[in-house]
Amino acid sequence: MTWQQRIDAALEERRAADAFRTRTAVEGGGRFLIRDTRRFCNFSSNDYLGLSQHPAIIRAWQQGAESWGVGSGGSGHVTGYTTAHQALEEQLADWLGYPRALLFISGFAANQALIAALMGEEDRIVADRLSHASLLEAASLSPAQLRRFPHNDAAQLNTLLAKSCDGQQLAVTEGVFSMDGDSAPLAELHAAAREHNAWLLVDDAHGIGVLGEEGRGSAASQGVKPDLLIVTFGKGFGISGAAVLCSESVADYLLQFARHLIYSTSMPPAQAVALQAALQVIRSDEGEQHRQTLAVHIQRFRAGVRELPWRMTDSQSAIQPLIVGENSRALRLAQQLRDRGMWVTAIRPPTVPAGTARLRLTLTAAHHTQDIDDLLEALHDAGE
Ligand SMILES: *Cc1c(COP(=O)(O)O)cnc(C)c1O
Repeated sequence: MTWQQRIDAALEERRAADAFRTRTAVEGGGRFLIRDTRRFCNFSSNDYLGLSQHPAIIRAWQQGAESWGVGSGGSGHVTGYTTAHQALEEQLADWLGYPRALLFISGFAANQALIAALMGEEDRIVADRLSHASLLEAASLSPAQLRRFPHNDAAQLNTLLAKSCDGQQLAVTEGVFSMDGDSAPLAELHAAAREHNAWLLVDDAHGIGVLGEEGRGSAASQGVKPDLLIVTFGKGFGISGAAVLCSESVADYLLQFARHLIYSTSMPPAQAVALQAALQVIRSDEGEQHRQTLAVHIQRFRAGVRELPWRMTDSQSAIQPLIVGENSRALRLAQQLRDRGMWVTAIRPPTVPAGTARLRLTLTAAHHTQDIDDLLEALHDAGE
């Protein structure tokens, strides 16, 4: 087989399974997106609080660029760590009640770096089987043993951690699951980890900013303090980037051994300034109002969708999947909604388990009540 034949065969296999992925270039942002001059209401965005369009945060980024320029000029270990990065790290640590926060360029990089830096050959990772690709991929690339526990099953986590292990064990989960939108039982998972001297890592990409008092996320709202907390800024914060919240010594350890920090350009300082502005909004009364608006949309949607023929998940979050089963049905339903001016995304295996192709609908504080009602009506018509 030649290189060309190998590539062609892989593409053909994807097409045959209705699993061929393409991207669409769009314009606009926030509540609407525009494609080929046509406007769609966006039900696929992770910008849960609508902060990507927030005037004060946009202004902060602009002013940051005027003060600092557009790029950091290097790794944080050289001269890419500015007082803007430092201030943001301190504010994040203070907000979430950890000794230290370390910034990363993305959640994907943070998860890769953390797992690669921590885990050795003798060690074991026990991860919820629905954990994000960035966690599971890092875990399977690492020399540590990887075991998966059934989704949200703390008893099974306990059983797996009880098996003998020569090294250290890391339990891995998410706060709010990206494809199902449901929450992890963090107190039970933390108790299971503690019982076996394992550390608990929680990736709260979808909970941070959106849940709990001052938007402190899944762990704080469940009264749990994971040993390692990952927060990302591409969702509720409306920007991008990530941070690891941890102890003093783990932060110092990561500064020695996290290769994604050492050998990569740090985020632009202007972005760190914008993230501080986003954090300020998230912690304020205004942030609370956005969270309330979102909660009302979620309740309205769930009440309205109950009569429809598709399976819902237990999600109380902004992520509201409708599980339709077959790939082709999910694609057809997505197209029916797009024909009515609503942008939704069909998610198919291997991103989700086989036979659970779905529409992953996301609601945001930028939506209007009428948008939710229009969506319900379109789903209702498509279901008949
Ligand atoms: C989106 C997401 C990530 C990746 O974060 P980026 O900052 O977009 O790279 C990691 N973990 C989970 C659970 C996510 O949903």
